[in-house]
Amino acid sequence: MIYKRSSTLFAAAEKVIPGGVNSPVRAFKAVGGTPIFVKEAKGAYLYDEDGNTLIDYINSWGPMILGHAFEPVVNAVIEKAKKGTSFGMPTEIETEIAELAVSMVPNIDKIRFVNSGTEACMSAVRLARGYTGKDKIIKFAGCYHGHSDSFLIQAGSGAVTFGSPNSPGVTEGTAKDTLLANYNDLANVEALINANKNEIACIIIEPVAGNMGCIPPLDGFLQGLRSLCDANDILLIFDEVMTGFRLAKGGVQELYGVDADIVCFGKVIGGGLPVGAFAARNEIMNYLAPLGPVYQAGTLSGNPLAMAAGLAMLTTLNNDAEVFNRLAEKTEYLHKGLAKVLDSNNITHTINRVGSMISVHFDAEPVVDFKTAAKGNNETFKTFFHGMLNQGVYIAPSAFETWFITDALTYEDLDRTIEACNTVFK
Ligand SMILES: *Cc1c(COP(=O)(O)O)cnc(C)c1O
Repeated sequence: MIYKRSSTLFAAAEKVIPGGVNSPVRAFKAVGGTPIFVKEAKGAYLYDEDGNTLIDYINSWGPMILGHAFEPVVNAVIEKAKKGTSFGMPTEIETEIAELAVSMVPNIDKIRFVNSGTEACMSAVRLARGYTGKDKIIKFAGCYHGHSDSFLIQAGSGAVTFGSPNSPGVTEGTAKDTLLANYNDLANVEALINANKNEIACIIIEPVAGNMGCIPPLDGFLQGLRSLCDANDILLIFDEVMTGFRLAKGGVQELYGVDADIVCFGKVIGGGLPVGAFAARNEIMNYLAPLGPVYQAGTLSGNPLAMAAGLAMLTTLNNDAEVFNRLAEKTEYLHKGLAKVLDSNNITHTINRVGSMISVHFDAEPVVDFKTAAKGNNETFKTFFHGMLNQGVYIAPSAFETWFITDALTYEDLDRTIEACNTVFK
């Protein structure tokens, strides 16, 4: 495929936008080459600026679970836009989407809308700190909760108890309140809690991890976290920005039957517009301003266009009893097909999958945490990425990303994808 116009557009972008992109994952740093500029998209397909058609497995990193330019969402936005795009005053549609979300998700009474997943997680942690009166948080290596300071922490050398900043600009002061644990390692979490008695406000986790590839929680892991939190007056925050309204109507809480204290949303909940949200039971949510002392605000929060898109999306998902099964079946079909052609070409791999999230790791060992995810062969991944792209299949340009399956994909699309994989490696 030819990317002449994309290259020209990227060169122009690089002059006025750092790295030519407004979010680093869009750059092709990990795989090399020039990011593809998209012109438009419909259903399961992207149409790029050079006239290529691509089967899309990123889907805006999750929101387009029913395909691009999904008509009910598009129409809802158009109709709303004609009536004014922002007021900074309450609107009825905010209550409508809140009622719907509260009815779909277990264990929440109230929800507050923000503008991104980052904001949702940042605000959830502030709320947890305000509510518990404690400062420290536990996060897991390889889990992403947006780019606010407390979350940009990874294990420094020998840093078992204290995180060290891994982005310049995050202060040591902030970093010391973020404790880092290994995903799927309950003993590790327990040790951190015991070493920081009565200091930990919350544990925040992607309850099915999706930012180091797709990593399911091992049996009993989420239940174990729930018990540890209960025993130590710690709030459990499920960051369901990726999994919410994707893995089930009620997200991971429903799928695995474990209750969180605060749940964060983003991606699907906005139907492709900039929306995030966090939700909890009354006693916690009533701690937020203007009812309570924890401050959180937003000029464009609950924006009518964003709420219209989100409401159309959630309404469709809520009314389609089969959608999550259908998505899981398509993903399983893809999983089996890819595994078969990788096996037949003797390519060492592990495929992880939960519902409509799937990731291919080029390593034989089970991928259960950041360390095992990082072992994948990046050279094989680059070959895979560019080989797939050449055949019109667009997967995320990083081995650490989940593929997001959309219901717009047909079985013919999946067969083409599996055949493309075979062509790459045969
Ligand atoms: C995408 C994501 C975020 C951040 O959301 P933004 O809207 O990009 O700020 C937070 N948590 C998880 C689990 C995510 O996948």
